[in-house]
Amino acid sequence: MLLRFLLLNFFCLPIVFASNNLPDLGAPDLKDYDSHTETQLGQAFSTALHTHYDLVYDPVMLSYIRRIGDKITSETGKNRNFSFFIIDNPEINAFAGPNGVIGIHTGLIASAQSEDELASVIAHEVAHVTQRHLSRTFEYQDNVNAASIASLIAAILIGTQDPSAGIATYMGGMGLNIQQQLKNSRIYEGEADYFGIKYLNQAGYSPYAMGEFFGRLSKEMQIYEGTPPEILLTHPVTENRLAKANDRAAQLKTEEPSSYKSDTLTLIQLRLNFTTKTQTQTYNTKKLNTHESCYLKNLKQLHDQGSSTPQYDMKCLEAASKKMPKERLYKLLLAQIKTETGDRSALKDYEYLTSFYPTDFSIVYLYAQSLIKLNHKQEAIELLTKSTPTFHYQYLLYSALSKLYAEKNQKNYSYYYDALANYNIGNLPKSTFLVNQAQKITKNKNSKLYQKINQLKIELEKNSQKEQRNQPS
Ligand SMILES: [Zn+2]
Repeated sequence: MLLRFLLLNFFCLPIVFASNNLPDLGAPDLKDYDSHTETQLGQAFSTALHTHYDLVYDPVMLSYIRRIGDKITSETGKNRNFSFFIIDNPEINAFAGPNGVIGIHTGLIASAQSEDELASVIAHEVAHVTQRHLSRTFEYQDNVNAASIASLIAAILIGTQDPSAGIATYMGGMGLNIQQQLKNSRIYEGEADYFGIKYLNQAGYSPYAMGEFFGRLSKEMQIYEGTPPEILLTHPVTENRLAKANDRAAQLKTEEPSSYKSDTLTLIQLRLNFTTKTQTQTYNTKKLNTHESCYLKNLKQLHDQGSSTPQYDMKCLEAASKKMPKERLYKLLLAQIKTETGDRSALKDYEYLTSFYPTDFSIVYLYAQSLIKLNHKQEAIELLTKSTPTFHYQYLLYSALSKLYAEKNQKNYSYYYDALANYNIGNLPKSTFLVNQAQKITKNKNSKLYQKINQLKIELEKNSQKEQRNQPS
């Protein structure tokens, strides 16, 4: 057997719940695990997500989820990695994998009634990361196969049967054991609530949102007597837990709610109808205001491009954009539709939007798509090359760049940017393969590209050396 876990019994951990003063439980003796194995596990986990599961790559939705994530993680005060992905799965669920890789199911996005509720679950998952719950659940012995363990953790956390069954057979009873460990820790859940509510409040959201969301789900379950959503299986809601969550929220000083209450979530939920395979229609059950109906109407036209010419209603979109000047989603859809209709003023709109929201990668992505559509491919290449390194999430942007070079038949560039895209999501084996391909066909060894290829190879080798250090000699 390749894998051996040393399972810790968390009920033996010296946790004392004092009402105001919870100790920070980031156990320092697990630091080694963090720096080497956890990075490696996080990369393997992220790779498993991208290769075995359906993710939502809609840049607007991803950017929105990451904005909420960034708001919360900036309040954690810990220098940790975080990345957020959307899983195309109608189960109401979210999870925290190794090394701060957080997954949000589309089912959760659809069921949240406010951004605060959605943020509360994200904050809860972020707290699982800052409190090191996953790495405290089990330690690894020497010869760890990161990819297998990461796949197993993904299968358990996402709650899918197939891959889990396959791996569980391979691992014997160990899979089940870990499953029990991951799912049944009340102490960890309490801790994630405690710190999550704190982050939530500091990020400007209602600290009551977590109790409200879990309470509502649990009540709905009692009325409908269905199978509980995945999130309730992993997060059993007890009276005691809800009471604790409310007490915790009441302890915190809440900020005055800002006068502008964003309702981006509704627009994001409308996007679910067009960006996922599994989500059933959400707009039938929602009461939409005029602007939201306008957004939906135009989104439908943009996505259902069948035989008939699309009937856009740009007037209502312009009105919505004027009435809600802080809502970038109306402006973005307007620019997308202008692009579709060949209106070149879209480029000016994108230019304005990128300068106004310089940290939003989705705007750069759509700007590049617009440049491509309006026959400015070289400018799209320049924009992507210049902007992508400034973002934390680079996968979509580098993939677009790789595609552009492939169309120009510059295969070495295409391989190189594809290698960077895969490096960004932790898929080191694929990145290594691609960068080697790029090197093979790059003839000019003095070129800038050749130097960049070498730099990436050095980065990749550093990572594999870390891996080797963990192997027994
Ligand atoms: Zn939890």
